Amino acid sequence: MDEQLKLLIELQELDTAILSIADEIDVLPRRLSQFEVPLREARKSFESIKKKAEVLNRKKHDKDLELDEVQDKIDKLKARSSDIKTNKEYEAHRKEIGVFENNIYKIEDEILALMEEIEAFTAQIQKEEETVRKAEEDFKKQEKLIQEEKTRLTAEIDMYKAKRNDFVTRVNKELYDQYMKKFDRLGGLAVVQVRNEICLGCNTNIPPQLYNDIKETGKTYTCYYCKRFLYYKEPPPADENPPSTPPSS
Ligand SMILES: [Zn+2]
Repeated sequence: MDEQLKLLIELQELDTAILSIADEIDVLPRRLSQFEVPLREARKSFESIKKKAEVLNRKKHDKDLELDEVQDKIDKLKARSSDIKTNKEYEAHRKEIGVFENNIYKIEDEILALMEEIEAFTAQIQKEEETVRKAEEDFKKQEKLIQEEKTRLTAEIDMYKAKRNDFVTRVNKELYDQYMKKFDRLGGLAVVQVRNEICLGCNTNIPPQLYNDIKETGKTYTCYYCKRFLYYKEPPPADENPPSTPPSS
């Protein structure tokens, strides 16, 4: 096979490898974003339950104040007991205190119910906090793995690029320019195989004479249709008759 054609084939192999690694690097952020979803959801759920608990705590705080106010009123009423002169006054006074005292029981019950609710929420908050912590840990682990993979792939692509730079100097300049034009125009595929009289770049039939020339001369031809460089490669032999081991004497 023509030396320059061999170089073109090798160049295409290098470029295909570079493109494939670049694709792998491109999808890495999307892979990481998959792990962002559970983290985001855990955080959302945690924030929502925290807000509910805050509302309850505020309610309890208000009830505590209310309780203090009512207690204060009772204290003031009781302080006035010594001013009472008649039985009638005394009855009215007792009644008034009784109303406030009933109010106290009611508020205390409400506070108790709120405290029970807050307690249940506290347990749930701790659970949700743990879920967030775990999701963060998972995300960080994945982030690290993906970062490592990116470093590895970048090193690999740099290695291929360095190899390519070195390699390109051996390719005929005019041929290289043609290659690059085809490469850019034809989706990164400028050199393709022919097999069974078909161009594997565009799947078009190759005239039998041209197919023969490609096969026999090993020179650089292009596809009539897609204009890619063509080459023939002997298919790997079907491994039907493995070589027999000579009998040892
Ligand atoms: Zn073609």
